[in-house]
Amino acid sequence: MRYVSTRGGLQPSSFSEILLGGLGPDGGLVVPEEYPKVDAATLASWRGLSYPQLAFEVLRRYAGDIGESTLRALIERTYTEQVFGSADITPVMGLEDELYLLRLSNGPTLAFKDVAMQLLGNLFEHVLEQQGRQLNILGATSGDTGSAAEYAMRGKHGISVFMLSPHGRMSAFQRAQMFSLRDPNVFNIAVYGVFDDCQDMVKAVSADLGFKSRYAIGTVNSINWARVVAQVVYYFKAWLAVTQADDELVSFSVPSGNFGNVLAGHIARMMGLPIRRLVVATNENDVLDEFFRTGRYRARSTAETSQTSSPSMDISRASNFERFVFDLLGRDPQRVAALWRELDERGEFDLAGTPEFARISDYGFVSGRSTHADRLATIRATASKYGVTVDPHTADGLFVAEPWREAGVKMICLETALPVKFAETIREALGQEPERPAAFEGIELLGQRFTLMPTDVVELKRYIAAHCPAVA
Ligand SMILES: *Cc1c(COP(=O)(O)O)cnc(C)c1O
Repeated sequence: MRYVSTRGGLQPSSFSEILLGGLGPDGGLVVPEEYPKVDAATLASWRGLSYPQLAFEVLRRYAGDIGESTLRALIERTYTEQVFGSADITPVMGLEDELYLLRLSNGPTLAFKDVAMQLLGNLFEHVLEQQGRQLNILGATSGDTGSAAEYAMRGKHGISVFMLSPHGRMSAFQRAQMFSLRDPNVFNIAVYGVFDDCQDMVKAVSADLGFKSRYAIGTVNSINWARVVAQVVYYFKAWLAVTQADDELVSFSVPSGNFGNVLAGHIARMMGLPIRRLVVATNENDVLDEFFRTGRYRARSTAETSQTSSPSMDISRASNFERFVFDLLGRDPQRVAALWRELDERGEFDLAGTPEFARISDYGFVSGRSTHADRLATIRATASKYGVTVDPHTADGLFVAEPWREAGVKMICLETALPVKFAETIREALGQEPERPAAFEGIELLGQRFTLMPTDVVELKRYIAAHCPAVA
């Protein structure tokens, strides 16, 4: 499998060559030249495979150049009962007739990002070793991404993580998760500022190309292709878990922010998995819902982006969306490049009235948005009807799924985090504390290790230079 850019400016490249990035030299995103097809007979032969076996079948179609035995070993090392809490890795739970929860949040940081990030840690370590390189991952987080990255990269050879977070703005639980790590290759930097300040500092460092290459600075953000493709696996896993007939169509509802998770569902569908609907669930930050309803894609300003009670979906633009638009426009890189130029210049583009948007239902996408009140009501209803407490993001998915359910079509809602990560909203909804997995009892009491820093790029560079070996 070779990879190209959505804007046409990348020589076809191998999986190993694109693994550490995700962005093409032309500003587009890397995508496979074509989607490998899985026919009905092959799909039927996958019934009964374990999660690692299934992951191998999916991933070997995308990462051929890793080598089959190496890939298998990396996957087997990643997806273990010990790390993910069950041999199923992503178990499916029935809520009622034709309604299911796909549980993706039993990895080390209790959010679905672990499923892909844990694999990324092992892939990165392998490829860096092969290429005789090292990598210093620099990122900004307001919660889930940073901790998932740190738990995936801790202790890995050739890799360090420098993670910026806004001082005093994460929940006590999230802070404890990140700052209690003692691994010498993990550096937590608490910035006197807000999340956007952290992100600006990361961008400023990455824009200094000399510094970036001297210190081998990289990222693990949601446009990383390997993260997307690792997520394709659990759509297959869930479909295999709930169907009997080999052509049964099921629907998925996906709490969405940067469009990485639901893009993986789109890819599974393009590969041939019988998916009827992909429900894109947004919160009040409804860039994606607006697009799927109207054809208009309008990036929001920081001022227009609200802080909600499902914070991991608070986005102003959806960084993976370009990959779907590439498919929607018949994989025409010129048109994608023109649309993104328009987006840069005017802050929006509009596909309403185009023949492609008229056929958008061919892709199965539908959408909806939910509000704080919807979220609370859904958390309450789910607790009282099924005795299950869901986190606010999963509640968005359940709420938006409801009007799209159809008799005879199973709806699988993706659980993207455990409620303990968002205790405040759970208390507000249910008047009680969320349950806490035993391994997380008292983590707030552990010693914490972090560095405080003003919003000063020079100081950040000095810190990185002092704590990582220069590469060239
Ligand atoms: C990251 C995240 C999301 C959004 O996923 P995308 O891939 O960005 O669409 C939803 N819920 C939780 C809990 C998350 O951490």
